[in-house]
Amino acid sequence: MSARSATPGNTPSSIRSERVLVLASSLVVIAILSIVTFLLIREHATAQQAATRAANNIVQLIDADVLRNVELYDLSLQGLIATAKRDDLKDVSPTIRHLALFDRATTVPYKGDILLLDKRGDVIADSASVEPRKGNYADREYFQSHVQNPTPDMMISRPFRSRSATKDWRISFSYRLSDDQGEFMGVAEAAMRLNYFSQLFKSLNIGHGTVNLVSRDGILLAQEPPLADDMIGKDFSNRPNFVRILREGNGSFTSISSVDQTQRLYTFSQVGNLPLIVVVALSSREVFASWQRTALLVSGATGALCIGLLWLTWLLRRELRRRHNAERELAQLAATDALTGLANRRTLDETLQQEWLRAQRSGQPLSVLMIDADHFKAFNDRHGHQQGDEALRALAQLIGQHVRRPADLAARYGGEEFSVILPETTTAGAFTMAQNIRDAVEQLPPVTEGGATMTVSIGIATWLNGPYGELSQLLFAADKALYQAKASGRNRVVCAM
Ligand code: GH3
Ligand code: MG
Ligand code: MG
Repeated sequence: MSARSATPGNTPSSIRSERVLVLASSLVVIAILSIVTFLLIREHATAQQAATRAANNIVQLIDADVLRNVELYDLSLQGLIATAKRDDLKDVSPTIRHLALFDRATTVPYKGDILLLDKRGDVIADSASVEPRKGNYADREYFQSHVQNPTPDMMISRPFRSRSATKDWRISFSYRLSDDQGEFMGVAEAAMRLNYFSQLFKSLNIGHGTVNLVSRDGILLAQEPPLADDMIGKDFSNRPNFVRILREGNGSFTSISSVDQTQRLYTFSQVGNLPLIVVVALSSREVFASWQRTALLVSGATGALCIGLLWLTWLLRRELRRRHNAERELAQLAATDALTGLANRRTLDETLQQEWLRAQRSGQPLSVLMIDADHFKAFNDRHGHQQGDEALRALAQLIGQHVRRPADLAARYGGEEFSVILPETTTAGAFTMAQNIRDAVEQLPPVTEGGATMTVSIGIATWLNGPYGELSQLLFAADKALYQAKASGRNRVVCAM
């Protein structure tokens, strides 16, 4: 085979167009995925923001209501203490005294009893009856706190079950009574039913979530709807979520609930300056349910779109490949001689032209071999045209085998004539090659047993800064050398002088 391929390979432009196609569609897919992801993330944030805002409104509403109610207790207790200290009420009737001690605020719903206890914990005034009921509350936690702690601030107790028949949960607000020297004199206490909070929370529709009231020391005071039985009074002080709520004061975050292990969006706020915290916990699943549906739909559609796009790209790429292959095959056919597979006359002419110009520029030698089968007409006549073709194929293959350098080209000139272009080759080099070819042809086995062997005559012309001014003159010289080889007996190589 000839060293220089007679056919153009996979053209760089075809490879480039395939690459551009794949790159462009990959970029489009990446862009689509990026945009959709960005939009979904933004939608997620928007959903969270909306839920947080709604939860925050509820928290603020509860804050205000709880604060107002606690203020009412505060006022009642302050009034009770101030009135109890007055000496002029000692002599009035118990009914008048009762009226003076307990104002009308004591009649609001959910309000438990307001009591005035002496320093032993005995009841000395009772909002529920003019004649105070018998009872001692010295064992209550808040009572003991006030005995030990001289602070004049209002104390909010842990939740406890009432001693009444209902046994409902309550908390108490209490103040210490001190004399002028700061000695403990007793306690003014008001109890509040925790039902109040439940009713308040129930009136606010927050969907699938809970509203919680927690004291600062982590005790759950109210929860609506309750996540489990017996939640009231539970200690959450060590739970990570509560620790975080306590640390942040106001705000919101998403976390797993330690009670039911579901993810929740917590929004929380401290109630005024009171040691109470309102926490609204919304189920993340519900908050993001609508987003999730949208995300599923959009992701599905986007996925289908991208797969479709990639599939189309693949189809297009396959078609491009097919077309390029077909073009390459056509180009190959156009450049190759059908019988021998060597370069054809057209390729020979083009290459000669190129190499001629190159040699002119570089000043390097350019040799041309003209090879012609001897007495081929007679060969045809003897063995038939078919055998003749076969012999030409064998001859072409042999010539091709001798032409190995990348720049060399072996071509069928026409009929039983061949040409070899040898750029950067001197006459001596060309002569050696020609002799080798001639020799090899002679060595080919005869077609028929005992028949004559095939031989070739070869003419060589070399350009080396002359003496030919044009390519045609070089070719003419090679032809002439071939003619001389024929004339001087055939089966020989002649170099043009
Ligand atoms: P010479 O030694 O002077 O070259 O004698 P020759 O017979 O080879 O020369 P000539 O030019 O008279 O005849 C060439 C012959 O080559 C004529 C034709 O039958 C034969 N020939 C040309 N092309 C083909 C081909 O493609 N196939 C076959 N089988 N024969 C061909
Ligand atoms: Mg001939
Ligand atoms: Mg011939």
